[in-house]
Amino acid sequence: QAKEHGRNTWQRFSLETNAGAVEKLVLETGLRHALERGELFLHYQPQVRTSDGHPVGAEALCRWQHPYLGLVPPIKFIPLAEETGLILPIGAWVLEEACRQSVAWQEQGLPPVRIGINLSGRQFKDRHLVDKIAEILDRTGVDPDLVELELTESMLMDDARGTAEMLHKLRGLGVHLAIDDFGTGYSSLSYLKHFPIDRVKIDRSFVMDLEGGGDDAAIAGAIIAMAQSLNLATLAEGVETEGQLEFLRERGCEEIQGYYFGKPMAAEDFAAYLHREAGNRSVTG
Ligand code: C2E
Ligand code: MG
Ligand code: MG
Ligand code: MG
Repeated sequence: QAKEHGRNTWQRFSLETNAGAVEKLVLETGLRHALERGELFLHYQPQVRTSDGHPVGAEALCRWQHPYLGLVPPIKFIPLAEETGLILPIGAWVLEEACRQSVAWQEQGLPPVRIGINLSGRQFKDRHLVDKIAEILDRTGVDPDLVELELTESMLMDDARGTAEMLHKLRGLGVHLAIDDFGTGYSSLSYLKHFPIDRVKIDRSFVMDLEGGGDDAAIAGAIIAMAQSLNLATLAEGVETEGQLEFLRERGCEEIQGYYFGKPMAAEDFAAYLHREAGNRSVTG
């Protein structure tokens, strides 16, 4: 019986392993052509000011519409893109598309909002990154002051001197810099004072249980307080409830992003949302 059980376990394990490998192969093959076939697109999620609820930014989030697998989530294809190096052309496309969209919204007469763009570790290590971004800013004519690049803690920890130099070069282009998923890395806020960072994005994992009043509330509160003392702006990710918003607002968190105000949406829907909000603002003064 034990033997029988063991063999079944092995078979199941082996089948699952193969299924995973096959899926990966299918995704990888598809990803190689996704760009040229126009299967990638961006969604935009509102970033909202806690003081008055008005939109101040949008994070560009990459989406892949696979011809027969349907919508593939970024947690599946971004790591694969990093592994294969495809993140370089894909990341460049995301940058250009997001900047182009920002200009288009401006031309439609919408109120200016910041556009947040995620950078991966592999892009950050690319020694042509600064030139590539300079070229994209130039080609699209976007206002660099509206562009915010999102980096993660782990990207900054490798080589402090090289990182500081890189961040200063990026900042020199006129764009802003944010630390994404803050609190999930192993770093402390104190190293941030060596880097030209504008904003800290508090990871969703600390926001989820804010109302429980336990550790997460203490951590989120401490991050906000320390960021303030370092003159960094704060944005909390993954806000889904009024209670979370209230907690964050009371602690002095300036901005939030989350389903409570809006899910990531198509560019046209984001434009409609901005238009609506701008209308409300002019009515209420
Ligand atoms: P991220 O940069 O931290 O983006 C925020 C993620 O949280 C998004 O997931 C967003 O949809 C989700 N989110 C926002 N508010 C809520 C909420 O209230 N509740 C919940 N449950 N989730 C919320 P998404 O779009 O699936 O992206 C996942 C990750 O994939 C991103 O995390 C980012 O690390 C990566 N990613 C997405 N687009 C790009 C890209 O163009 N380039 C790179 N390098 N990475 C990207
Ligand atoms: Mg992000
Ligand atoms: Mg994040
Ligand atoms: Mg996250």
